[in-house]
Amino acid sequence: MAYPSPPKLNLPVDPYEVGGYHFRDRVRRKILLWATHLGDDVQAVVGTEVKAIGDGEVVWSEIRPGSEKKKNWGGLVVVGHNNDQLDGAGFQTFYSVYGHLMNLRVNTGDFVIGGQTLGVVAERLTPENGWWEIAHLHFGIYCGPWRDVVLPGYKRIEEFRTKTKWWQDPCSFIEQYNSN
Ligand SMILES: [Zn+2]
Repeated sequence: MAYPSPPKLNLPVDPYEVGGYHFRDRVRRKILLWATHLGDDVQAVVGTEVKAIGDGEVVWSEIRPGSEKKKNWGGLVVVGHNNDQLDGAGFQTFYSVYGHLMNLRVNTGDFVIGGQTLGVVAERLTPENGWWEIAHLHFGIYCGPWRDVVLPGYKRIEEFRTKTKWWQDPCSFIEQYNSN
C-alpha cells in the first residue's frame, strides 16, 4: 500500500505537552493488571484543533464511544504515511494515531495534507472522549502492518492484537524523520 510521503512532519498540537501517560509508561488499571501505554497523552484544552502530522491517507475515522464503565477511543483517526526518503533503515510505512477527538472532519479514504485539521479535542467524560477523566489527545506512531481493524491504545500482557516493537516514541520519531 503506497500512502503519500510527507517531506516533513509536524506535531499534531501546539504546544505539545505530555500531561498524562508518556509513550511506554506502565499503566496500572486494577491491582494486578499492567499495560504499556502505546502513545503520549497530550494535555490540550477542549476544542484544540488536532492536525495531521504530514501528508497521508485516512485509514480509520470513527467514534468508538465505549461507556462510563468501559472506556474507549472516542473519536479516533488513523492516517497512513509512506517514507520515501528512507534508504534502508527505519520504517517504510507508518501510521499516525489520534484519539479522543470530537467533530471529526475527515472520512476513511480521504487524502490529507500536513497541518490539516482532523478534529478537535473532546470534552472529558463524553462518548467522543471515550469516557476518560481528562480531556486530552492520545497520539501514537504505529509502524506495524495495517489490518483494517482498530488499533489499541495500550498493550496488556494478554493483548495479542499488537506488538510493542511496532510502536515508536512519537516525538523522537518525528525528530528523526525530519533530520533525514
Ligand atoms: Zn492514552
